[in-house]
Amino acid sequence: MTSMRTRERLVQRLMEQGVTDLQVLDVMRNTPRHIFLDEALSHRAYEDTALPIGYGQTLSQPYIVARMTEVLLAAGGKLDRVLEVGTGSGYQTTVLAQLVPKVYSVERIKPLQDKARTRLRQLGLHNVQLKHSDGGFGWPDQGQFEGILSAAAPRTVPQELLNQLAPDGVLVIPVGGEQQELQLIIREGDSDRFKTQTLEPVKFVPLLSGTVR
Ligand code: SAH
Repeated sequence: MTSMRTRERLVQRLMEQGVTDLQVLDVMRNTPRHIFLDEALSHRAYEDTALPIGYGQTLSQPYIVARMTEVLLAAGGKLDRVLEVGTGSGYQTTVLAQLVPKVYSVERIKPLQDKARTRLRQLGLHNVQLKHSDGGFGWPDQGQFEGILSAAAPRTVPQELLNQLAPDGVLVIPVGGEQQELQLIIREGDSDRFKTQTLEPVKFVPLLSGTVR
């Protein structure tokens, strides 16, 4: 189930859905998704679906991970530091960490963060910093970031995330409640103006406030 052929099929599917960035496709091909799931589910790791990771949360669908990463890279120019909101299993974190120099990732549910930390270590990724906190506030001590990617959907975009965008910085974020859309928000130079582009309808878990121990 974790064979190269199974992963190749997933990459084919991503391409059919319109993912074109070869670097992203390559990273998706080489990232073992099964280690981000409990054993009982790992045989489904290379299906293009979201899968449960406990605590009512999900491992994002490969298509959406690829798409958001591709959008971030294309719009972001030279990305040095990227903030991820919602580490979850650490899968998207792992994909990002292979494509940008430094990833900062925040998660509000401590046990999920602990598991993600173990996996990142297993994979030998040392350019990731994790923090247990409410990512609706970003990571103020580390801001600003050239790129921010959110894996959870707020009703409206938190001002703190906008504040932590570097000049020309790029935020990729699902926004909404029952109906959500993926938005690409770009800071215009070093101004406080932002350009928003709506990309496609999506379905993410909600961005919740506070933390869980
Ligand atoms: N990319 C992750 C997606 C996990 S689902 C993966 O593929 O595994 C989204 C995650 O966002 C969940 O783990 C949820 O706990 C987290 N989350 C929701 N609201 C948050 C907040 N305010 N701050 C930090 N993390 C949050």
